Amino acid sequence: MSDHLRLNELLPDKQRNLYIDGGWHEANGGERFVVLDPADGSVITDVADGSADDAMDALDAAAAAQPAWARTAPRERGEILRRAFELITERADSLARIISLEMGKTLAEAKGEVTYGAEFFRWFSEEAVRIHGRWMQAPAGGSRLLTIRKPVGPCLFLTPWNFPIAMGTRKIGPAVAAGCTMVIKPAELTPLTMLALAGIMEEAGLPAGVLNVVTTSNSAALSKALMADDRLRKVSFTGSTPVGKVLVRQSADQLQRMSMELGGNAPFLVFEDADVDAAVDGAMVAKMRNMGEACTAANRFLVHEAVAAEFAEKLGARMGALTVGRGQDEGVDVGPLINPDAVESISGLVTDAVHDGATVVTGGTVPDGPGNFYPPTVLTGVPADSQINQEEIFGPVAPITTFTTEDEAVERANATEYGLTSYVFTRDLARTVRLAESLDFGMVGINTGLVSNPAAPFGGVKASGFGREGGFEGIDEYLDTTYVAIPAG
Ligand code: NAD
Repeated sequence: MSDHLRLNELLPDKQRNLYIDGGWHEANGGERFVVLDPADGSVITDVADGSADDAMDALDAAAAAQPAWARTAPRERGEILRRAFELITERADSLARIISLEMGKTLAEAKGEVTYGAEFFRWFSEEAVRIHGRWMQAPAGGSRLLTIRKPVGPCLFLTPWNFPIAMGTRKIGPAVAAGCTMVIKPAELTPLTMLALAGIMEEAGLPAGVLNVVTTSNSAALSKALMADDRLRKVSFTGSTPVGKVLVRQSADQLQRMSMELGGNAPFLVFEDADVDAAVDGAMVAKMRNMGEACTAANRFLVHEAVAAEFAEKLGARMGALTVGRGQDEGVDVGPLINPDAVESISGLVTDAVHDGATVVTGGTVPDGPGNFYPPTVLTGVPADSQINQEEIFGPVAPITTFTTEDEAVERANATEYGLTSYVFTRDLARTVRLAESLDFGMVGINTGLVSNPAAPFGGVKASGFGREGGFEGIDEYLDTTYVAIPAG
């Protein structure tokens, strides 16, 4: 049976609609939009195309549910998340199949995302019962100072297509734990996973109105209408920096609290004292997780001139040996990119780099035939000012540039408007401390190509945004502090 047909078993027809106030509804205007298979461009299915009007129905439901939800016992909120964690884990194979189908990544990668995404629910189920304020005596004596943490209120979540479940759960988890209600607008390219997740949240016992999902092909109209309403108190966005800037400007009128998880341009530094084989292993993860379509993806490989040739040769051999194909097929390592625009943009950056003097070690040519495929590619001799070193590539291309001194490496690594993730490979302990302190990034991976962990604060600085998701910090984004002054004799 083809995977398109199998979708009927994975996501019932009624769930290809808007989920508002605990029920599945068609869009008010009856419109629908199609979801395409990135492996061949065919139509997988269609879903309701929500309008600003539908979004307001969702906000009505979220605002109505907010007071009772805020009063729900923390343990109860935590146990709903725990049940959802267990349901996701039980259904990991089905969810992975939906992710792979609509987004393109391999089933193994999709399963990895499901595990990662579910962990946010387990982590925040444990944090729901650890929300506390403080009690202290004023420095001058006399009064006592008490702080109370309260949920910020109804939230809007805008999520990207690259991790259809995990970019949702890392917002939903802390919001549910904190006692916030929400309207979620998944990416129009991958709406199916979030609809499946909404069904799971309902089964886990989440009350009607706490979580609402509005799929739409017109995200801008929907978010504009919602953000003009003063009942909406918070927006959490994961996506590109230009859209993030639009949303921050839009938040000014109602002064909504904002969390911005935006783009990256991660440097991957390999020093002369590094274990080159370990650096190549790390590079394979940092570059090829999600086919390079990750905000954490290593974007600029800065390698010390003494080990650059060895690193490039070994990375080229590993990248060149990967099998590209449909994500649901056996033996495939690298799925298609999300759409034809992605292939065009990446191949443009590679052509440009070659024009600037780069050498292609492996890959670099768009294959014939249907689907949004691009081969794993390694380039050497890429000038620092080549466009490929300035932009987020968001694909399976590793451009390598050499450096001579540590100061030069740090200066070049920091020479970007972005500040999300950075990677360092060295055996020198003192150097790891110096670099952790001098790299202007929200995250630094030392001798590892993977920094994401639900128990750690994920987030960036500069054009990569602000706010943290995961870790102890993650729940703070969903809590306000009330200070109470109490005179005490
Ligand atoms: P995008 O900015 O195009 O879209 C993100 C979301 O915003 C989608 O739901 C989209 O429908 C919506 N959107 C688009 N235009 C909008 C508008 N004008 N108003 C309101 N909503 C709008 O990004 P994308 O292409 O889906 O995702 C890729 C980007 O996301 C990359 O830049 C990547 O680095 C970034 N990303 C960041 C993180 C992180 O945690 N920092 C994680 C994953 C992806």
